[in-house]
Amino acid sequence: MGKSSKDKRDAYYRLAKEEGWRARSAYKLLQLDEEFNLFENVTRVVDLCAAPGSWSQVLSRVLIQGERFGRADWEEKQKETRHYTQGTADNSAPAVQSPQATAEPEKKEKDGKNSKSGGGVRIVAIDLQPMSPLEGVTTLRADITHPSTIPLMLKALDPDTYDPKSSSTSTPVDLVISDGAPDVTGLHDLDIYVQSQLLWAALNLALCVLKPGGKFVAKIFRGKDVDLLFAQLKIVFERVRVAKPRSSRASSIEAFVVCEGFCPPAGFKASLDTPLGAGTLIPDSAESRGEEIKASRRIRDDGVMEIDLGPEDDEADDVEAGGQRWIAPFLACGDLSAYDADATYHLPKDRVSLDPVQPPTAPPYKRALEMRKLAGGAYGKTKGREAQP
Ligand code: SAM
Repeated sequence: MGKSSKDKRDAYYRLAKEEGWRARSAYKLLQLDEEFNLFENVTRVVDLCAAPGSWSQVLSRVLIQGERFGRADWEEKQKETRHYTQGTADNSAPAVQSPQATAEPEKKEKDGKNSKSGGGVRIVAIDLQPMSPLEGVTTLRADITHPSTIPLMLKALDPDTYDPKSSSTSTPVDLVISDGAPDVTGLHDLDIYVQSQLLWAALNLALCVLKPGGKFVAKIFRGKDVDLLFAQLKIVFERVRVAKPRSSRASSIEAFVVCEGFCPPAGFKASLDTPLGAGTLIPDSAESRGEEIKASRRIRDDGVMEIDLGPEDDEADDVEAGGQRWIAPFLACGDLSAYDADATYHLPKDRVSLDPVQPPTAPPYKRALEMRKLAGGAYGKTKGREAQP
């Protein structure tokens, strides 16, 4: 699908370009923040699976530039973007020329809670793909599922005081966010499995750097066994909620876990060499918090935390057995008057299609484009087809 047809299809896609965000995902983080006040008293953040970088842009603008977004005034926004027409193409819309995407989005109110902060702020962004630089953001190209990423992350967090022998940071972070997604195959079970592996990797990295009381926000795919995951997260966080921002398509199984109040068990030492996994049941502080959940944790002598999902086996059905199922509260977030991510929007014909704010630096299709160019573009493609048996 070409970019102009996409421009017509999704209001957030178009809006992101008009407001200078690298991806429409920026609105998901902004709407999560509207609901959960994620950035309050936050100065140190790790952004996992961060490319092309719209979440890091949000972090940079809020924590470093001191901008405050608060609850978006969607009525106002929709007046500004009244050339978006829901349903069918509408050429009678007011002929206001679209603003071209700017490298830096328009500035907003600056007297926010983090206003003029910047000092002491540390943002580390990690992705498999390279990411174009962003003000105040340290970017790392690394695989979050690989143990070698931990020392890279720790060094980026504390360049001056990093101790290669340590698997944690002397100055833990307030927030870890992860928007990780695999290349979706369309095979739901497989996609959900790979997504859950990314989530576990993100959680294990978070365990290495989060400070007690810290927050963890991560994308999940709501599969049939997702309750298990919530129960596991509930072991190490006081509050676990699931949220669906208005900008996330209702038709997609995507949602976000918002975990607050990180409470590592005493003596716990995080490590990706011995990541969080299933183990033996030792009931503990989750119950002391008066919450009925099935999963529990124990710390082995070597400091590794093991999580158990139930006394008999770790099948999903167990969690639902005996009335002990714990269901994470689900919240829709983002103003209801915001654009509907599932609706199709059209632009009148006089609208120009906008270029991406930040084209990918090394997209997976780069080599294919180079080969096509070498083969003489469309002619080469035809030649290639002719060569097929
Ligand atoms: N939050 C980003 C933003 O706002 O621009 C969008 C993230 S995009 C939906 C998902 C990202 O996950 C991709 O850039 C992909 O490269 C990254 N990813 C997938 N698997 C990864 C892994 N094992 N390690 C690091 N990044 C990974």
